[in-house]
Parts: sequence; C-alpha cells; structure tokens
Amino acid sequence: SQLHAVSNMPVLSSTILENGLKSIQFSESPPMPTYLMAWFVSDETFDALYSNTTSGITYSVHGRVDLREQGQYAFDVTPSVIAGLESFTGVTYASSGMSLVGQAAIPDFSAGAMENWGLVTYRESYLMYHPAVSSVLDKQHTLLVIAHELAHQWFGDAVTLDWWSYTWLNEGFARYLQYVIPNKLEPSWMIENQFLTDVFQLSMTADLDSHPLTNPNVTTMDESEDMFDVVTYGKGASILRMFSSILGEDSFKGWLNAYLTRVIEKGRVATPDDLFDALPNASLAEKFRPWTELAGHPVINVSRINGTSLSLSQVKEDLTGSRLPSGLQVPIRVFTWNTSSYQSMDFGSQVDLWLGQETLNVPLNTTSSGWYLINVNSTGYYRVLYDEMNWQSLRYAITRGELPPLVRAQLVSDALNLLKTGYLRPQVALDFAGFLTLEKDLHVWKSALMAFKDIRNHLLEWTDARDALDMFVRDAMDTALTIDFTVIETRHYERVLQMYVAKQVCVYQSKHCTA
Ligand SMILES: [Zn+2]
Repeated sequence: SQLHAVSNMPVLSSTILENGLKSIQFSESPPMPTYLMAWFVSDETFDALYSNTTSGITYSVHGRVDLREQGQYAFDVTPSVIAGLESFTGVTYASSGMSLVGQAAIPDFSAGAMENWGLVTYRESYLMYHPAVSSVLDKQHTLLVIAHELAHQWFGDAVTLDWWSYTWLNEGFARYLQYVIPNKLEPSWMIENQFLTDVFQLSMTADLDSHPLTNPNVTTMDESEDMFDVVTYGKGASILRMFSSILGEDSFKGWLNAYLTRVIEKGRVATPDDLFDALPNASLAEKFRPWTELAGHPVINVSRINGTSLSLSQVKEDLTGSRLPSGLQVPIRVFTWNTSSYQSMDFGSQVDLWLGQETLNVPLNTTSSGWYLINVNSTGYYRVLYDEMNWQSLRYAITRGELPPLVRAQLVSDALNLLKTGYLRPQVALDFAGFLTLEKDLHVWKSALMAFKDIRNHLLEWTDARDALDMFVRDAMDTALTIDFTVIETRHYERVLQMYVAKQVCVYQSKHCTA
C-alpha cells in the first residue's frame, strides 16, 4: 500500500484492500499494441518530480527524488516539443484520446529509451540534465532523445506499423523529427548541419551491403530485432529529408498529415502503401517508393562533354565494384558556376531532372574552367563522382571561398568514401582533400575526419598506407587549425564540434593534441 503506480492513462481510482495491498484502476486507453503498454511502480525514493496540466494534457517527469533538479530541463522543454510535433503533423496529441505525457527516468534501464504511449521510459542519464556537471552534448542529447520518443507518439503509437518489415515507418520518422523539431527550438545549435554528419553520412557509409528499408524477409523475433539498425534509422531519416527537400516543407507536412489522418481513420495500422498513397500525385509515389524497397544508394557518374554539356549516369555503390544498376529515380539539381554566386542562391524545392537508368546529357552554361555541382544542398541520398577536372575546379572554388561549409562537408565525404569504395582514384581524392590545409570550419573537418576514420579502419593491416594517410591528415590539421583546444568554447554548436575534433587531433598526433 506504500507504493505508487503510473501507466499510459490517468489513475481513475486507488483503494487500499483488506489484505493491505493497494488496487489502482486506470482510465481505459485507446486500442494499442501490447509493446507500448507500461506500468511504473515505485516506492518513496521516487516521485513525480514535476507535473503540470496545460491545454488538457498533463506533463510529468518521474525519477529518483534526489535527482529533482536534473528533471527540470526535460520538464521545461517537453511542451514545446509536443507543440512542435502537433504543428508539424497537423494532428493534436489529444485527438487520439491521450491526456498524459509522462516521462520516467529509470536506473539500470538497458535500452536508451522506450516510446510507451503516454509514459515514455528513459535511461536515467538520457532524461536527466545537470547544468553544472553535464556537457553541452549531454544537453543536446537529452533534447534529441525526448524529441525522438515524443515523435513516436505519432509515428509508432497513434499509428502503428503492420509488421516489423516496415520498422522505418517508426524509426525513420522518429530519427528525422528528432532533428527537425529541436532545430526549430534551438536554431543556433545548427542541428541540420549535425544531421548531415551524424545521420546522413553515417548511414550512407553503412548502406553498402544492407537490407532495403522495407524488408520482406522479416518473420522471426531475431529478424525483427535486426531491423533496428543504422540503415533503418539513418537511411529512413535521410530519405525523408530528401523527400522534404523535393516537396518543400509545407507540402511535406501536408503529406504527413494526409498519411496520419487516413491511417487513424482506418484503424491506426500502417503500411508503406498508406504513406505513398497519401502523396499528392501518383508519379511522385512511383519515384519515391523504390528508395524504400531497394537496398543501397547510387553513385552519380557525371562528366563534361566538350565543355558544353554534362553526361549523367548512375550505378549502385558497393564494395565489390560490380557496378549494378540502382533501379532508382534520382532527383538532380545542377548548379554551374557563372557570374552568380552559390552563396546567394535559393534552391527552393526545384528538381532540374530525374535521372533513371539511362545516360542523360544536359547543357552546361559555364566557361570551360568553371565548376559545376550536382547535389546542390546535400539532401540527395547519393554520392557524386565528378570528372577529374571538376574535382580540381571545385578545390579552387573552395580556395576562393565560393562554396559554403555544408557543401564542402559533403564533397569531402563523397571524395574520400569514393576513394574507399574504389570509384575515385586515390590521387584525385587526396588532391581534392588538400583544401583541408586551409580549412578552418570544424564541421567540414568533422565530416572529413569521419571519412578518414573509416578509411583507416580498412587499412589496419596496411601499416605503410595508414602511416601515409595519418601524415597527410596531421599535416593538414597542423597547417589549417588555429583554434586553441585548451580554451573551452562557450557557444553551443562550436563546443559540440570542438569536442569531436579535440579527440581526433590526438588520434593523428597533431600538435593541437592537448590530452
Ligand atoms: Zn525510436
């Protein structure tokens, strides 16, 4: 009778029985899958650290009583995350019959967090934030994990997938929205830039010999668990970002609203058909759907013909060099250098052409020495293999300050990864990466260092090659970086990057290493 309990729904009544036990009755919930049911039973060392009801929703953070102060940040930020998700989806939290947004910090919780409908459970360190002790990265992580789990209240809970073959319908959306919503709350954190390295590039590097997002070969428990991998989360999120870039954010939001609304009306069980049928036209569905049904991603092979046109074709990127067709329709936007500056361009959501399996030729309006760019805002889920002359021109363009950090970050990632997979000659890739000797931007450095780390892992037995690579990276670091790593950066985004690069400079034994 001394214990407390909370669950997905509010407590209706609580009675002490004759035998001394306590009986607690909860309100009836909407129908939900069993994996989302939760009870949290605790003694006097736990409590609802914070609780408040606004607009018919009761927000609460539960945890150990002596951690009360550390629950404040989660409690403060949660209503804004819920409001952000309601605005993005056009579907209110309460419309499904839910009234609690409970979040509990559980000691010794093995998973990171679990999106139980109305009562999300977290590993203690993921939900709790201590301003005096935790790092900026801890704070950001808390916000992103909360946004991920709360995004599941729509994608996974209000609408649940029909089978684990479609796990990306849960995890791809949650991973994407865990960046989109916080980006609106904390614009100075540059969370979209962080998505590029931490989700998009990480996923493409892993997506060389993996399963398609929609995976028909899932029947057993083990196969279902295997679906919770970097491809399901990262590729799922990255292709949603690509679709959003093609549609524009307003149309993308309209699409999500149409999808959620139709699935809720027909009983809350979702398949990818429901998502693609909710698109405004069938021809878009034809182009989008294969990205979720085919494994891998393309390499776009592009070269200049006689200085007057570009030839574009594509194969699937893999480690075997088999150059198989990707089977995908690839959205291409071409930017060519002329008198207009890239920096002042607003690319909106225009797609210049869709590249299928045939080679396409497009006219090129630039001088013979001018550069061109294909994946203009780094949202296309593919790598670009430029002709060797253009890699040189792009390097000069970077030297002249003509390309912003986000583009530089993706170009260096493409060059180094295509070196690794054998599509680009090492000499060309490393000549291009030579721009790093002048690079000050730590986001570009992070992108390059992630790719170098991956190449290094492939060179474990080739010590000569690895030593040469290390020297290349060390020289560039020593020449380019002027930041003092002993002075702790006070700005959030800059500090996040500083923490990453500070570790890496020691891997390469740079003079900047202070460890
Ligand atoms: Zn999740």
